Amino acid sequence: MSQKPEKLIDKKGLRLDGRKPEELRSIKIEVGILPNADGSAYIQQGKNKILAGVYGPREMHPKHLARPDRTVLRCRYHMAPFSVQERKSPAPSRRDIELSKVIRESLQPAIFLEYYPRTGIDIFVEILQADGGTRCASITAASLALADAGIPMRDLVVACAAGKVDDTIVLDLMDTEDKKGGADVPVALMPNLNAITLLQMDGILTFEEFEKAVNLALKGCRKIYTMQKEALKAKYESVKEVEE
Ligand code: ADP
Repeated sequence: MSQKPEKLIDKKGLRLDGRKPEELRSIKIEVGILPNADGSAYIQQGKNKILAGVYGPREMHPKHLARPDRTVLRCRYHMAPFSVQERKSPAPSRRDIELSKVIRESLQPAIFLEYYPRTGIDIFVEILQADGGTRCASITAASLALADAGIPMRDLVVACAAGKVDDTIVLDLMDTEDKKGGADVPVALMPNLNAITLLQMDGILTFEEFEKAVNLALKGCRKIYTMQKEALKAKYESVKEVEE
């Protein structure tokens, strides 16, 4: 029996969680929260809770993967078994492997890889709780963890998705909107260089809708970029206070 499709936008034009179409979820970012990692960051974006830890540049293991002219960036995206309602197997799924690649490739252009030949940089992303848009929030957090590790970067990388639910283009889709909506367009950006490092699309959009979604996602990225910079500053201000 076919079910009547659930309305994702109400009569007032508000979304299931009360947001306006162009509104981000509430975001909290903290930098430098894992003392045992070289760099780390934590992001809470709506119900997403994500930790990113960075090690390196350090000696590459296994050695045969090292490159004579640059560092090798590796990334592991992992969802904790308790991160979704039904227990997720801790073994890497196809999706985990894809997202690890996508996150690595969106961060790589920001790093001066040639500064550290024969070494490796490892990024670990742990999804403690997932509610849609984890690849974007992971990129935002991992880029801060790289900066926190003192790795020279051209710019921070920030990511945000926009998409279509019912017939409206909306920013920063949560899980239900992602699953029941029409399309999802995650975008990663180096805002100062105005360079896009990730652009994906899931679903179907007309060209005009696609353009609107990309522009909205870029607007979201720029807002989150301000929060990223504030979170980095907050860490160094707290270090300064301890030293004084
Ligand atoms: P993203 O998190 O970047 O949007 P997807 O579109 O692949 O990536 O996933 C959307 C959402 O689906 C995730 O954020 C998560 O909330 C949910 N999800 C992913 N994998 C599982 C799973 N194994 N079980 C339940 N929910 C999942």
